Amino acid sequence: MAQNFLQSKFPEMETTIFSVMSALAKEHHAINLGQGFPDFACDPKLLDGVEASMRNGDNQYPPMSGIPELRNKISEKIQDLYGKYYSADDEITVTAGATQAILTVVLATVRPGEEVVVIEPVYDSYLPAINLAGGKAISVKMIPQRNAMGVVEKYALPWDDLASAINPKTRLIMINSPHNPTGMVWQSEDLERLAELVKPTNALICSDEVYEHMVYDNQLHQSISRHPELCERSFVVSSFGKTFHVTGWKVGYVAAPKELMAEFRKVHQFNVFTVNTPMQYGLASYLKYPNAYKELPTFYQQKRDFFKAGLSDTHFSLLPSDGTYFQCIDYSQLKIPEAKLGEVDFCKWLTTEVKVAAIPVSAFYSSAVNSNVIRFCYAKKDATLIAALDQLKKIAS
Ligand code: PMP
Ligand code: GLN
Repeated sequence: MAQNFLQSKFPEMETTIFSVMSALAKEHHAINLGQGFPDFACDPKLLDGVEASMRNGDNQYPPMSGIPELRNKISEKIQDLYGKYYSADDEITVTAGATQAILTVVLATVRPGEEVVVIEPVYDSYLPAINLAGGKAISVKMIPQRNAMGVVEKYALPWDDLASAINPKTRLIMINSPHNPTGMVWQSEDLERLAELVKPTNALICSDEVYEHMVYDNQLHQSISRHPELCERSFVVSSFGKTFHVTGWKVGYVAAPKELMAEFRKVHQFNVFTVNTPMQYGLASYLKYPNAYKELPTFYQQKRDFFKAGLSDTHFSLLPSDGTYFQCIDYSQLKIPEAKLGEVDFCKWLTTEVKVAAIPVSAFYSSAVNSNVIRFCYAKKDATLIAALDQLKKIAS
């Protein structure tokens, strides 16, 4: 049998929770508020651009770092939004989504045994990426703030633990704002605190900003590229999948100072080499319409408010969703036996019996935790949200 030939490099690794829950939702005909993707169409103008490019014959390899038209547009966008100039030639690379960007950052920077600081709950690709590079993950946990009933009300950044974890041995710090899954967004003071902590070190930063255009209530996205000191040592990662409702296209990008980008590209060229050409032309021409992303906070804030208002008729306790398109809830106060289930089993029950899929927040931890908190994705048509809310309201108190 095949297992005689290969001893697994990752014996403990399981299939990602997003695939597991989407498959379960499909099997049980449940409404999928689990895996984070929109169920509505992108702007037809974006499709027109891609189609025109394909028909125009743009179907061969593009330049390794991405087509100049797209890199120029990305450079303009970052400068317009955050006031930082990145050279399209040397400091921006188009990637096959943020996942490849993150893996490539880690592979390009972390040597076996070097320390990489992550903040849990952590997006599920970070720890395997560190593992692949042979790095040593140093996990610190966000602090769940609970009310008198023990219900999680929000998560706070663990500054004391970060101060202990970041030291001259730190090679890379991986941060994510707006944060998946908690919906927490970093403030400018948070960037200042991070800047103080890294000052005595040579630590690099990988700043995962895939939800950069989903920040609500008139707050600003605190991109690391706004911070002149931090961005000198940072890779900034984003994803057009999130921004333009095309998660299946898997196109993203990385911006970083020239010396860092040169190292990134050394790995990128033998990792994917390059990213599909017609999508790049389509995205480049669509970036002529900056309102497409500038209007996103209003668009998603309406969805968030609509979903929140509907959930207020249930007995779930809602956490803030200041950014991303995720809403976390604490289910511990439901007066049903299932409220005693762990997060994974609760999500399975919700999917198979209530017919609404969600993601357990415990899946974003490296060790067993159970906070009775699960995540819903509200990047859905109103009709989908209404149908899901109808189901959720049927849960007895
Ligand atoms: N980082 C975070 C925090 C995410 O939620 C996701 C999921 N989209 C990614 C990275 C990966 O993005 P992509 O689909 O562009 O690979
Ligand atoms: N980022 C998406 C989420 O958090 C899922 C992406 C994936 O399935 N890998 O739900």
